Amino acid sequence: RIISATPVSSQEEAIERALRPKQLDEYVGQEKIRAQLEIFITAARQRKEALDHTLLFGPPGLGKTTLAHIIAREMGVNLRQTSGPVLERAGDLAALLTNLEANDVLFIDEIHRLSPVVEEILYPALEDYQIDIMIGEGPAARSVKLDLQPFTLVGATTRAGMLTNPLRDRFGIVARLEFYTPEQLTRIVTRSASLLNAPIHEEGAREIANRARGTPRIANRLLRRVRDYAEVKGNGNITKDIADAALKMLDVDTVGFDLMDRKLLEAILFKFGGGPVGLDNVAAAIGEERDTIEDVLEPYLIQQGYLQRTPRGRIATTLAYEHFGVSAPGRLTS
Ligand code: ATP
Repeated sequence: RIISATPVSSQEEAIERALRPKQLDEYVGQEKIRAQLEIFITAARQRKEALDHTLLFGPPGLGKTTLAHIIAREMGVNLRQTSGPVLERAGDLAALLTNLEANDVLFIDEIHRLSPVVEEILYPALEDYQIDIMIGEGPAARSVKLDLQPFTLVGATTRAGMLTNPLRDRFGIVARLEFYTPEQLTRIVTRSASLLNAPIHEEGAREIANRARGTPRIANRLLRRVRDYAEVKGNGNITKDIADAALKMLDVDTVGFDLMDRKLLEAILFKFGGGPVGLDNVAAAIGEERDTIEDVLEPYLIQQGYLQRTPRGRIATTLAYEHFGVSAPGRLTS
């Protein structure tokens, strides 16, 4: 999938790091979260305390990792990064926790995928900055309490609903990231183009922004592909026409849907008569994982009003029929 919402290579990750805003005032959009964090961070700094544990949730590529780094930087502390699936044993987490310095940020991506044994260690750490670890084996084994430095856990997840209740309750700050507007994405694309030294017209940036699924990671990725196109097929300038031609070549349509978006909507419209249809049936029809459909594909289609989740299954909306030139289930207008 050319425009998947997750990073596809280590090279891409390196470029992402370079484009990442470093301070809160460089971070575009998410105004509510920014305003809240500014206050909470300032207050924590004044009291010389760790910021409250913070949960960031929302679809991939909206800037959760970026925000975690910004929090650490604004707090003036170190950031240690790991992810739910990587922390297999309790000892892995214990090692990380005992190495934290006062008020550091521990960033755990995909926190909904922590194993239960690791989560057990986390609770007292979050509550009392203490952990209980077992030393030795068999009859000689004993449990030892270790004091930790105060720290901030920043957890990121695509689904807050997948977190266990006790874990969710331990976050003092919960922030839900929203899709970005075309205006906000235009600012992001313009900023990235200038960091990449790519000459871009305002309408060129807007064209990319309009077709980036509300997602900064996709906007930056499209920008790089459009830049290639501009250099090879044009004189390097990213104009509206160049952006449009490049995006057409990439199979990104005028409203920003890529191949998978279209496959999903077309399956619901043409194979299942517009729905309602269950997630498993859709997954089988398009050969995609349930999780990817729920976390990556659907949120944007729902937010844009093309799809509805109902208790009886997925339903395509009138907008979806119109987009594919269909007037009623299965009947083409033209
Ligand atoms: P995932 O959880 O899937 O890794 P994420 O939500 O953590 O995704 P990031 O890695 O933080 O996403 O962001 C992806 C890219 O988008 C980064 O290169 C970053 O530069 C850019 N980006 C994200 N949010 C913003 C923003 N608010 N302003 C400017 N650029 C942003």
